[in-house]
Amino acid sequence: MSGVLPAAGVDFPLSVPVLVIGGGACGLVAALAAYDAGAEVLVLERDPSPSGSTAMSSGMIPAAGTALQALRGVNDTPAIMAADVQAKAHGENDPAMVESICAASGPVVDWLVQQHHVPLILVEGFLYPGHSRARMHAPASRSGADLIAGLLRAANTAAIDVVCDATVTTLFADTDGRVAGVELQRPDGSAERIGCAALVLACSGFGGNAELLACHIPELKGAMYYGHTGNRGDALLWGEQLGAATQHLGAYQGHGSLAMPHAILISWALMMEGGFQVNANGERFSCEHDGYSEQAMRVIAQPGAIAWNIYDERLHQLGLEFEDYRDAIKGGAIRSADSVERLAEFCGLPAAALVATVAETQTLAAGQGSDRFGRDFTGRPALAAPFYAVKVTGALFHTQGGLRVDTDARVLRSDGMPLPNLLAGGGAACGLSGQGRDGYLSGNGLLTATVLGAKAGRTAAELVKSGG
Ligand SMILES: Cc1cc2nc3c(=O)[nH]c(=O)nc-3n(C[C@H](O)[C@H](O)[C@H](O)COP(=O)(O)OP(=O)(O)OC[C@H]3O[C@@H](n4cnc5c(N)ncnc54)[C@H](O)[C@@H]3O)c2cc1C
Repeated sequence: MSGVLPAAGVDFPLSVPVLVIGGGACGLVAALAAYDAGAEVLVLERDPSPSGSTAMSSGMIPAAGTALQALRGVNDTPAIMAADVQAKAHGENDPAMVESICAASGPVVDWLVQQHHVPLILVEGFLYPGHSRARMHAPASRSGADLIAGLLRAANTAAIDVVCDATVTTLFADTDGRVAGVELQRPDGSAERIGCAALVLACSGFGGNAELLACHIPELKGAMYYGHTGNRGDALLWGEQLGAATQHLGAYQGHGSLAMPHAILISWALMMEGGFQVNANGERFSCEHDGYSEQAMRVIAQPGAIAWNIYDERLHQLGLEFEDYRDAIKGGAIRSADSVERLAEFCGLPAAALVATVAETQTLAAGQGSDRFGRDFTGRPALAAPFYAVKVTGALFHTQGGLRVDTDARVLRSDGMPLPNLLAGGGAACGLSGQGRDGYLSGNGLLTATVLGAKAGRTAAELVKSGG
């Protein structure tokens, strides 16, 4: 049971200047930033080894004005990126936060690559919905496991202590909200206390807490959660008890393309480059280019709560660039056939309906007619044999609402004043995805994990130095 208790009279046998709870992207980036700013830092992680939702992700970090973009001649700026973020979120984000995070995104990615040798490349060849420039930076494998591995390597090189099997259960705070330390529980049930001068909450959102989900995002009742199950909303609960303001708790990243029953992410790149989704009747039901987050509920609303991604050899080759997709092939999730009729047979779809749907998209790709869902099919080749299909469902990937922070990642009270020594980033803090399901611009998750993580680490180090 998580909670906040009075610090008065509590002893901490060990104390560190900067303490970080959570060893995902946010926690590890915060630790690197605190270390670089000259502070001693310790990371506490509940799992036997750090992974988090970060390791489940495609590892795509959006950033504007990076050295990698410059090398490839991509003309992007924080202002262009901020406009994309705000457009997707219907202008519902705090503009100052969007501006500040987008401005810092390029320098943070450059710092991770150049200073800490985290192996990221610029992802080219397709754009996710709402991005006007190639600005995704990811491991070559497009695998979050490789991102975590790179961050952990950097933490090890810096000799940063990452203590695993350490679930923080309790915060101890003074009456003014200053956190004096934490209690953690070991797998054998034993408890340890660690004091701190500044605390970074990097323990993500509440996707793994059914009660909080039912309370804040009731539309997801019964939906699958495909994020890290250890993210149980501890940061939110502690923050609320400390008097922190919360924001956009109904916001989340869903995804409409999780292979079933294999539970493997099939990249939305396939939809962006010409693929489309049909339901069990072989009919399209939406504009796939609106975004994959809102598509989760649209897929769940179809018969049997499933859809089929339909695509072809060209897009299969694109899929092969993703480790997840290669895993889906190994798991037998991907079906293919030389004709649409045979594909329909393999998938148990009505052949006549699927033939008609494919033919319609081919006509649209040729520039004839307009799509009733408003999608533009031109600019990409029409699908051609051999054809491919994969059965998918919609799922919750992570929550995007959380603690309100300022542009230095300081957690704010309801009156707008910062708590004395509490920082938050990643899934623990409110993201840049507006208020609901459709404000999520691809990459918003790792954007705030890395950028707010870096800001939190630096601010924590400054607080320690200034004795603040
Ligand atoms: C399948 C999938 C694909 C995705 N792809 C992308 C993508 O390509 N790009 C993108 O931007 N976003 C993506 N996301 C979202 C992205 O993964 C998250 O937004 C991001 O990883 C959040 O980082 P974090 O550090 O805040 O949380 P996490 O990486 O989840 O780390 C939080 C850590 O805190 C630990 N923890 C929790 N509670 C405690 C406690 N009480 N004590 C100690 N430790 C605790 C957890 O065990 C966990 O390791 C994806 C998500 C999923 C599920």
